[in-house]
Amino acid sequence: MAETYFCHHCQQSITLPDALDNSIPDETVRLSRINRNIDAMFTLQVKFGVGLGDAKFITQHISKSKGRCANCGKNLLEDGITYCPHCSGLNFNW
Ligand SMILES: [Zn+2]
Ligand SMILES: [Zn+2]
Repeated sequence: MAETYFCHHCQQSITLPDALDNSIPDETVRLSRINRNIDAMFTLQVKFGVGLGDAKFITQHISKSKGRCANCGKNLLEDGITYCPHCSGLNFNW
């Protein structure tokens, strides 16, 4: 089952394909963390069949370094798909 996650900060939701719910897109995360967001989005589109809008959303919500909120930069408490305890933004803390 594809899972849907809602970001309380953006007031938008995202439905992840099963492949992304069950595994970490290492290359996407790596590219995102060196500020190559266009390339990161491309890997999601090609490898996981994610549409452009969703790829952009996912890339924007990848924690900017492991454990740091993509929105406010403060510490996250959990690995994986989680919500920031400070701004309640959705994070892919992969
Ligand atoms: Zn958000
Ligand atoms: Zn935050």
